[in-house]
Order: sequence, then structure tokens, then C-alpha cells
Amino acid sequence: MKSSRVLLLLFIVILIALFFIFDLRQYLSLEMLKAQQETIESYRNGHPVLTIIIFMLVYIAVTGLSLPGATLLTLAGGAVFGLLWGTVIVSFASTIGATLAFLGARFLFRESIKSRFSSRLQAIDEGIERDGGFYLFTLRLVPVFPFFMINMAMGLTTLKVKTFYWVSQVGMLAGTIVYINAGTQLAKIESLSGILSPVLIASFVLLGVFPMIAKKMVSAIQAKKVYKKWNKPKNFDNNLIVIGAGAGGLVTSYIAAAVKAKVTLVEKNKMGGDCLNTGCVPSKALIRSAKWLSHVKRCQEFGIKQATADFDFADVMERVQAVIKRVEPHDSIERYTELGVDIVVGEAKIISPWEVQVLTSEGSEILSTRSIVIAAGARPFVPPIPGLDKVAPLTSDNIWKLKELPKRLLILGGGPIGCELTQSFARLGSLVTQVEMLPRIMIREDPEVSETVMSRFIQEGVDLRVEHTAKEFIIEEGEKIMIAEYQGQSVKIAFDQVIVAIGRAANIKGYGVEELNITLSPRKTIETNAFQETNYPNIYACGDVAGPYQFTHTAAHQAWYAAVNALFGQFKKFRTDYSVIPWSTFTDPEVARVGLNEEDAKQQKIPYEVVSYGIDDLDRAIADSEAHGFVKVLTQPGKDKILGVTIVGEHAGDLIAEFVLAMKHGLGLNKILGTIHIYPTLAEANKYAAGVWKRKHAPERLLAWLARYHTWRRG
Ligand SMILES: Cc1cc2nc3c(=O)[nH]c(=O)nc-3n(C[C@H](O)[C@H](O)[C@H](O)COP(=O)(O)OP(=O)(O)OC[C@H]3O[C@@H](n4cnc5c(N)ncnc54)[C@H](O)[C@@H]3O)c2cc1C
Repeated sequence: MKSSRVLLLLFIVILIALFFIFDLRQYLSLEMLKAQQETIESYRNGHPVLTIIIFMLVYIAVTGLSLPGATLLTLAGGAVFGLLWGTVIVSFASTIGATLAFLGARFLFRESIKSRFSSRLQAIDEGIERDGGFYLFTLRLVPVFPFFMINMAMGLTTLKVKTFYWVSQVGMLAGTIVYINAGTQLAKIESLSGILSPVLIASFVLLGVFPMIAKKMVSAIQAKKVYKKWNKPKNFDNNLIVIGAGAGGLVTSYIAAAVKAKVTLVEKNKMGGDCLNTGCVPSKALIRSAKWLSHVKRCQEFGIKQATADFDFADVMERVQAVIKRVEPHDSIERYTELGVDIVVGEAKIISPWEVQVLTSEGSEILSTRSIVIAAGARPFVPPIPGLDKVAPLTSDNIWKLKELPKRLLILGGGPIGCELTQSFARLGSLVTQVEMLPRIMIREDPEVSETVMSRFIQEGVDLRVEHTAKEFIIEEGEKIMIAEYQGQSVKIAFDQVIVAIGRAANIKGYGVEELNITLSPRKTIETNAFQETNYPNIYACGDVAGPYQFTHTAAHQAWYAAVNALFGQFKKFRTDYSVIPWSTFTDPEVARVGLNEEDAKQQKIPYEVVSYGIDDLDRAIADSEAHGFVKVLTQPGKDKILGVTIVGEHAGDLIAEFVLAMKHGLGLNKILGTIHIYPTLAEANKYAAGVWKRKHAPERLLAWLARYHTWRRG
């Protein structure tokens, strides 16, 4: 805890202790109030403003410090100031006091709670973001919840101070009036508990839950409203229609068929989608050939005097296609038909919430369905840079058809796809210029990760241009040229071919999304709630078309939720679990990550400790001449709980699996350290990283005692 927090906590504890030591509680009793009523009233008559100020300060102090006595003070407000003024004064004093308690709890405890329960807190924070005001209003109106607890609990959430203040003021008003009114007839009150009759409490409860019920009803009506102009069929051909046979669509239909639903999967292009045909599979195949060539270049590191490689780029690309062919059966029509999925090769268009029109080579057909899952994927985003269309830009969609190696290759984009292609083409022999407008490539990773990869790229001959923004493409004397802006200067870069890899745009047009007014997110993906549901409760979306991640494994992960919620949502819906999401960029060195890195932790103000193990020290990496990179682990301060891991090095994407499992199942670094890892393997790096953490947290005092004990044993 920071010293400012410790000081404030100490100050509050002292004030509370003084309150009890001097038994100030005795002054906040009904008897004392009755006995002193006349004296207080005569003081008020003489000093009205001062009485209000003193009263408010006392009230704010009591509620701000969460001391007992607020109810009695409210009665006093009625007794001393009457119904109108009493209500106004107490309403402001109680809200200000509550807000101070709220702010105090937030300042003192929010950060440590956040670091301890960050993943669980995220779901609560999302709920608060959506409905926080409603929750608070309900809690304020229902007098069974002690106010001091509400103040503190809300302080631990992300509820806005402004919202807390005004909802509290409005929500507490009814209760305040009841007590103030009672206070105006102080003499008749026998006990504090008698003020609220069971009927009054019940009315407050009803009043409190009403806004929540009303909100639920409004959203239910709104959900129904989207269906207003459509005619629902009486019965359906399918339980589920899935649009797109990429990772998202394949897994969705696989699950639906496994639970015996009638499911139709519509694909307009190739089974397997981007991953198989233009994404993960061809890129990894290309990376493998390119890596092999890099080993030839590095032959002396392996004790080989000389090695050369005679190869044809066209053959490399043929191998890429052969690899696709080998994997194809996994995603094939035959396999999925056998699994029980009806496959239709054609273009799907949603024509109503329950009907999909399919255009096939044989004509058009309308299929009805209870639910739809959109898994239409994404495509390379080509920015509207002047002149770009004139230089025939390539993208990850069409590079796989290249038969000739581009001589001077310009790659726009320093994200994962741009980086993987940059290194591969450079290793295959292209003169690659990689252009990134930000100060470093792989911007989502920590700076040292980018630096490691950047220095390898430069070492391998890549002309790396960061902070360069593409402005225009021209053809000058038959030569293709990109004009970029770099630190206010105009820079010309000549090239033969350009690959645009600056991001991927979700496929949202041409298949009914606009016609049905399916809501889009600000990032122009299909907006889904936590259940993968669109604004039509029977239409779901998963994968690249929905985001926020654009990976094959996240598409498949979301697909499970889309399928299960679409088929069984009437019984129970499951929220997509994003608590542990790993990914890898398959450059050399590979970069893999799960959970937080330092940049994220700082941005989200999550306290962390960091340990790093250098793979340059690892026996197997040394034996393999791959002694470079690191395993960097972020943990909760003082604990072995893993908050995130970044691995840079050979097979980082495989090595990270151990940490993914550990994080998913709440295993800490002590557990990894206590697990046997085969010698000599790269996986030992994980154990050594845990060892670095253990040494950092060695019990120094105990070890000093042990040293003394051993000295004593030696005599
Ligand atoms: C070069 C590259 C490398 C990549 N490498 C990796 C990697 O190493 N690891 C990783 O996890 N991810 C990688 N990705 C990302 C990965 O490919 C995607 O995240 C994944 O393919 C998303 O799957 P999806 O099912 O959402 O969409 P897609 O695979 O794009 O599938 C969508 C399908 O929907 C079809 N479709 C669209 N509209 C209609 C319609 N109206 N009717 C019928 N069919 C329709 C499309 O034809 C397509 O087949 C890479 C991507 C690229 C481009």
C-alpha cells in the first residue's frame, strides 16, 4: 500500500477509535436527543446558520467515517429544523458523507482488490458500467441494506462519482423524509426500530426493485421490438443455420451436430475459411521454408563450413498449396457431412430473423431456422491511400498465388501478419522494406519484445521504417514509388510489389446485416453481448466478424458459446470467458503472450511484480544454437499468482501452453516450479522463470537462521 494510503487509513482508524474511546455514541441516543431537544432548539434560534453548519459537519463526519448514529442524526434533523429544512439539510449532508465514504473506500482498497481479483472484478465492472445506477438506486431504497456497506462496496467498483452522488441523493430521499417526519414528532417515538413499519419497508422494497424490473421489461420489449416487422414461421427447417465455414462456423456447426440439432452450414467460398486457405496454414508453411533457408545461411553456427540452397520460389509456393491440401480434409464437406452437418455451398443472405436465402450454382433456396450464427469472418483492410489502386496492391488474400519472388517488396504494416510476411519474404530473398507508422512494430507487446524482433529483422537485412506514414503511391518513370511522411519530411521508397497488411475489416456487407439493422460496434464488427448474441436474440455472431480478437482459437472459443446459447439459451446462457486468452506471432524469434504484459498492467493500473528468465542461459537453447529470448512473468505483488506471461524465443507459441493452463486453473509459479520438466528441453525455461521468482521471494530471515543452525551443527 502506498504511504499516502497508509496515512489516510491510520487517520481514519484513529478518528473511529477516538469516537469509541470517548464513548461519543452516548450523545447519539434517542434519550439524549429527547433530553437535549430544548437546549438545541434554543441554540438554533440564536444561531441558525451556525447550527446548520455544525449539524451538517457532524452528519458528514459520522456518515463519511461509517460511524453508527446516522439514523439518530436524521431524526434530530427533523426535530431541530422541521420537515422541509430538515429534509434539505440531511439530504445533502448524508449524500456528501456517503460520497466521502465511497471515495475513501475507492482510494484505500480498490487497487489492491483489483490486483487480487482482476478477472472476476472485470465482470462486475462491466455490470456496473451497464446498470450500476440501477443497482445503487435499488440498494438505497431498500432499507435492509446498511448504507455504510453500500458506500464502501460501491467505492470498490468503477461506478462514476457523479452517478453515485446523484443516485444516492435521489434514492435516499424517501427514507430521509420518513425519518425527518418522525423526528418532527420526537416525543412520540419510543424506539428507532419502530419508525419503519413492515408495510413501509415492503413499500420501499417494491419502490427499489421497480426500476430494475422496469429496465428488464424495457429491454425485453426492445428485444421483441426488433422482430416487429417480421413474420415468424410456424415451424423451422433447421435449429441452426451457420454462415461461413471458417474456424468459427465449423466449430459452431460441429457442436450443434454433436448435440443432435439440425444444422446447415453455408459457405460461399472454400471450406476452412481464411485460416486454412489464406491465413494461418499457408503463412506457417511459408515460414517453415523460409526458416530452413535461414538455417542454411547460419550453417557455420552449426559447425558446417558451407551450405547453399538451390530453390525455386514457385516450388516453395507449391509446397504451401500442398500443405493446405494435406490439412483440407480436417475441414472438408465430407468430414462435416459425416458429423451430421448439412453443408450448402453457396452465398447466404439473411432475409428475416428466421430465414436465410442461399444462392447456389443451382439457383436460390430459402431455409428457415430458429437461430442463426454469423461467422462470416474478415478480409484485409486496404486503406484509401491515393494511388494505391494503381500499384496493384497484394494482400494476404492473394499472395499465395505468387509464382515469382518479388524483388523489392514493400510491406505496409507492423502487426503480426506484416511481421511474419516481412521475415519470410526477406529470408526467401526479397529486398523487403517494412513500413510502420508507429514508433515500433508489434505495438501490442512490451517495447523490449518489439526491440528484440526489430533487431533480428535488421540483422537479416530488412529495411525497417518505423514512424513512416504512407501518404501516396505514384509511378515515376515506370517505377512504383510510395511517398511516406517521416518526422515531417517526405520520403520516397521504390518497390516492385506491395503487400498491405495493416489490419482486417469484418465482413458486414452484402448478406442482410444492413437490411436487418443488425447493430455494429464502433470498430465496425457485429456487436454482440456477453453471450455472442446480436440485437436479435436469435442471431449470434462469432469469430473475426464479431471480434474483439482475430485468431482462429478465439473464433473457435466463441463458437462454443454461440452454438450452446443459440440452441439452449432458453434454459441457460453462458457468458464468453475471456479471462485467459493466449496468442502468438510466428516470427523468429517467436513471440507468445497470455494475460497482461507490463504495458497493459500500467495502463490498467494493476499492481504487479515482474521476473524474467533469459533463454540465452538455457542448456537446450545453447545446444540448438537458439540461445536468445526470455520468459517474462508478471505476478501479483507478494504472491505467485500469474497475471501474464510473454515468451520470446524458439517455439514460444508452444512453451506458453504451460502458463495458459496454469492461469486458467489458478496454478501459481510454485506449482510450475514443483513440476518435473524434461531435461534438456526448451520447456525448462518456464520452470527457471518460476525459479527466478522463488529466489526473489526467498525467506531471508529463515535462511539466516538456517545458516546459524548449520554452523552450530558443524560445531
Ligand atoms: C496471413 C494470416 C495469418 C494468420 N495467422 C494466424 C495464426 O497463426 N493463428 C491464428 O490464430 N490466427 C491467424 N490468423 C487469423 C485467422 O485466420 C482468423 O482469425 C480466422 O480465420 C477467423 O475465423 P472466422 O471463422 O471468424 O472467419 P474466416 O476464417 O474468415 O471464415 C469466414 C467464412 O465465411 C464465409 N462467408 C462470408 N460471408 C458469407 C456468406 N454471405 N455466405 C456464405 N459464406 C460466407 C467466407 O467465405 C469464409 O470462408 C491469420 C490470418 C491471416 C490473414
